[in-house]
Amino acid sequence: MPTILVTNDDGVYSPGLLALKQGLAVLGTVVVLAPERNWSATSHAKTMHKPLRLQTVTLADGSEAYCSSGSPTDCVALAAAGVLGAVPDLVVSGINAGYNLGIDVTYSGTVACAMEATIKGMPGIALSTVGPGQTEADPQAIHRRAAEIAAELGEQVLLRGLPPQTLLNVNVPGVEPAALRGLHITRIGSRHYPNDELIRREDPYGRPYYWLGGGRPVDIHDDGTDVGAVANGFVSVTPITLDMTNYAFLGDLGAWELRLEDRPVPAHVDRGE
Ligand code: MN
Repeated sequence: MPTILVTNDDGVYSPGLLALKQGLAVLGTVVVLAPERNWSATSHAKTMHKPLRLQTVTLADGSEAYCSSGSPTDCVALAAAGVLGAVPDLVVSGINAGYNLGIDVTYSGTVACAMEATIKGMPGIALSTVGPGQTEADPQAIHRRAAEIAAELGEQVLLRGLPPQTLLNVNVPGVEPAALRGLHITRIGSRHYPNDELIRREDPYGRPYYWLGGGRPVDIHDDGTDVGAVANGFVSVTPITLDMTNYAFLGDLGAWELRLEDRPVPAHVDRGE
C-alpha cells in the first residue's frame, strides 16, 4: 500500500487540502504535512537559518494531520527525510485556492512542493483550481471533482512513474463538475502581470510604505496551453521539467564568444538602434 503525502502552500486548514486528502484515500495511506500558515506565492523557499517545529492538528473531518513552522518546501523535505516514518511514494500538493497557470508556476508554493518532491526522488503532482469568490459554482463540488482527478492521475503516476526531473502541474476549471469538458495535456501558456499597481501610503510616523500588486493577469488563450485549456473548460495537465536550460539559445550564446580575458569595457554598447 503506497504512502501519499498531501501538502500545500495555503496552510494546513485550507479546505482544498482536506478535500485532496479525502479524495486520495482510495490510493493508499495518506499523510498530511503542511505549513501552519498561508505561504502562497513564496515559490521554492527553504528554511536554512532556524529550526523547524512540527505539531499535530485535527482537521475539520476529525482526522489528524501534521503541520510545520516551515515553508511548503520544508514540509516536503521533512517528509522525504523520514520525519513521518515511511518516505512517501507520491507527493500531491493542493488543492490550491487559485489557478497556477503560465508564469504563476514560477511564483507558486504549490508547484514548488512538487518540485521539491521531484528533487528528493518522489513523484510530485501540483493541483490547483479557482480561488474562493471567483466562481458561481459550488466550491465543495469543485474540490471533490478535482480530488477525484488527482486520484486518477496519482494512480497512473504510481503505476508508471514520471521521467527524471519531471512533475505534473494540474489545473481544474472552477465550473460545476458536469460542465467540465475533458482533459488536455498542455504546455505552459502565456499569463503575465504587466499591470501591478504601486500604491504609496504613509505610516503613522510619516514614513512611506508600499502595496505592490492587485493587477489582473493578462492571459492569452492559445490552444495547447494550460491557460487556454482552463479558459475553455478543460483540465490542464502540464509536465514541467526542473531543467530550465534554454537549449535553443545555447548555440547563439556560444557565438557571443564570451572569454575570461582582460579587455576594456565598452563605454557604449551599440544595440543597433
Ligand atoms: Mn496557495
